[in-house]
Amino acid sequence: MSSDPNRLPHINTIGLLGGMSWESTRIYYRELNQQINQHLGGLHSAPMVLVNVDFAPIERLMQAGDWAGIGQRLLGHCRCIQAAGADFLVIATNTMHKLAPLIEAELDLPLLHIADVVGQALRDQGVTTVGLLGTAFTMQEPFYRDRLRARHGIQTLLPNAPQRDVVDRVIFTELCHGQLQAESKQAYLDIIDDLAAQGAQAIILGCTEIGLLVQSSDTSVPLLDATHCHIQAAVEMALNQDP
Ligand code: GLU
Repeated sequence: MSSDPNRLPHINTIGLLGGMSWESTRIYYRELNQQINQHLGGLHSAPMVLVNVDFAPIERLMQAGDWAGIGQRLLGHCRCIQAAGADFLVIATNTMHKLAPLIEAELDLPLLHIADVVGQALRDQGVTTVGLLGTAFTMQEPFYRDRLRARHGIQTLLPNAPQRDVVDRVIFTELCHGQLQAESKQAYLDIIDDLAAQGAQAIILGCTEIGLLVQSSDTSVPLLDATHCHIQAAVEMALNQDP
């Protein structure tokens, strides 16, 4: 039997939990649609269930260290995404992967874990020691670095304490507001140089807003933007017939 040339391809529905500032959510939304269209052409775009959150109350809970409270909120959002028919879940923030074990345990929806996507990309490039930039939570807590080491054999170098304060402050007081400052960019580039001098073969831009400020064209140190890796992997999963 010959196949029907008019038959449309199946695309899995992406469940996108925004990240958590809308500045990064819009990168995911735009690029997921663009990349699906590049693959399939015509009027194709990304079937998606998107939950965009109000970041202010969540950021308050982060500062208060109330991760149980954040977990309950995020679980509620993820349950909406599941109920609306998503085939898999993409959480558009590195930091909220701190709650990945809870979300995976409570939901019946495959999670495309950002650290696994990053780890795989680094392995593909032969990188074994990497510098990590992200929020204080992502840099200092074990959930991200331990996963890179345990599942992908990758060692992580961190900026020193004052540098970590700068990286974190810029994320929450500038990038999440869509503000790009030349001094902050230079501070990030200096930190990237320091990490490379300590032996980092590449630097993970491990916060979904950092790519707004710093790109590969700004430095000779190889950068791995977690956002772009995550989006590309989500597109592959959307187009996979067997997710
Ligand atoms: N989007 C950021 C990340 O990738 C930080 C903001 C947030 O906590 O969601 O970690």
